[in-house]
Amino acid sequence: MIRIICFLFSNFLEKVKIFLKMFIFLRKKVHKKEFICYNRGKVQERIRGVEMRRVIIVGGGAAGMMAAVFAARQGARVDLYEKNEKLGKKLYITGKGRCNLTNNCPVEELLENVCSNAKFLYSGFYSFTAQDVMEFFEKAGMPVKTERGNRVFPVSDHAYDVTEALGRCMRQAGVRVHLCRAVEELLLEEGRVRGILLSGEGIRHSEEGAGTKEYADAVVVATGGLSYPVTGSTGDGYRFAKDAGHSIGETLPSLVPMNAEEDWVKELQGLSLRNVRVTIYNGRKRIYEEFGEMLFTHFGVSGPLILTASSRVGNSLRKQKLHMAIDLKPALTEEQLDARILRDFGQAPNKKFRNVAAGLFPAKLQPVMLCLGGIDPEKKVNEITREERLGFVRQIKNLELTLTGLRDYREAVITRGGVCVREINPSTMESKLTPGLYFAGEVLDLDALTGGFNLQIAWSTAYLAGNAAGAQGEL
Ligand SMILES: Cc1cc2nc3c(=O)[nH]c(=O)nc-3n(C[C@H](O)[C@H](O)[C@H](O)COP(=O)(O)OP(=O)(O)OC[C@H]3O[C@@H](n4cnc5c(N)ncnc54)[C@H](O)[C@@H]3O)c2cc1C
Repeated sequence: MIRIICFLFSNFLEKVKIFLKMFIFLRKKVHKKEFICYNRGKVQERIRGVEMRRVIIVGGGAAGMMAAVFAARQGARVDLYEKNEKLGKKLYITGKGRCNLTNNCPVEELLENVCSNAKFLYSGFYSFTAQDVMEFFEKAGMPVKTERGNRVFPVSDHAYDVTEALGRCMRQAGVRVHLCRAVEELLLEEGRVRGILLSGEGIRHSEEGAGTKEYADAVVVATGGLSYPVTGSTGDGYRFAKDAGHSIGETLPSLVPMNAEEDWVKELQGLSLRNVRVTIYNGRKRIYEEFGEMLFTHFGVSGPLILTASSRVGNSLRKQKLHMAIDLKPALTEEQLDARILRDFGQAPNKKFRNVAAGLFPAKLQPVMLCLGGIDPEKKVNEITREERLGFVRQIKNLELTLTGLRDYREAVITRGGVCVREINPSTMESKLTPGLYFAGEVLDLDALTGGFNLQIAWSTAYLAGNAAGAQGEL
């Protein structure tokens, strides 16, 4: 009996040994990554037997990072190439370092604040709304708050946290980020995109990677526009788009300060005027009118009112000078203002005009207004004629400036113009001309007013592009 048991046991050990060997062999086979070579446009990677679609994202700004997250969440293998040494360089300076990441308003209102090609964004804004963006960041561990004008900011007031949150999402989704890797051109073959060619630019310590080709099933171009080129947005995407057969809508700086002709603006440098009305005329035609806050600079005018105006009058200003009128007392009619001045004059009839008028303006503005007002500042107010007084009233209601041009891209919040949206599918952001090629963010001919709307454009277009590029389609 003991002999039989011993025989069976030894046999059993032998069987276990064989079984273990087979198990290890099979495990190695299954776990081995099999890179199937680039084959007529099909790049397939099998990991544990699962075919993975490969997506390349060009640009690690707002749109690129968001597109990478959603492409990876679709199960694709995602590689993001950013030419800077860090991600989201422009995001750091948005909202004066606080990042106004969206506007907590309904889709219709988002669309109303878009200046170019609003209709194209219908699908994007409805697919990934401002509230979806807020939820996305909350889930990513970055609480948000809504301030005046529905502007949404991180609770921390640090733009840095937006990039951190996106970085966390990318890590969780398995996105591979390649910093200091500038994309030189797209690889285009047989009418579709095959991948990218990396340049040596930005590679600090070695030439490794320079000139190498990376292949993919889909490429998302999220290289931004031309504004604030120090952040890495130097218009490379326009070149890529052109190579792929796309037309580029003429670009110009937008949400940008403006130059003024008059010398006296220099004396007002740094003066901020709240609650003024600005009207801009092209000849006799009124082309812009708004109430709010503006700022004088050494070259001309800036501030929220002026930035918004630039996106409305920028095209006209490129062709000719425009006239701007500032109403310094918009709450009063000319008659009411005249009555007030008359009252001031009556209270101190023997005072010099300069002393009585001083109460009407901030200190910095007084000498300029006295100079432009057409009344001798030393004149006693009881000697001022009715015509002189009414002229001064008109001057206050109508301080005129000549706008000579827009400041350049280095000072522009946004670029107007870009990849023509008629050639892009609005539901997927895929090129209608080059299959597999997607665009997201400021590189597209889309721009909006201040208030978080431009980043909402980046998020929504990136959401569509990432999901579509990462989805398992026909390889
Ligand atoms: C001062 C300032 C303040 C702003 N504040 C706000 C705000 O508060 N709210 C708001 O909604 N909008 C704001 N904006 C606008 C907003 O920042 C942009 O709309 C947004 O950043 C666009 O995102 P994007 O990803 O399309 O482009 P970008 O942010 O410009 O990112 C593009 C990225 O692509 C990289 N890249 C470019 N070419 C290549 C290449 N060849 N290879 C590899 N990488 C490349 C660049 O280095 C860059 O990192 C502000 C803009 C500025 C300049």
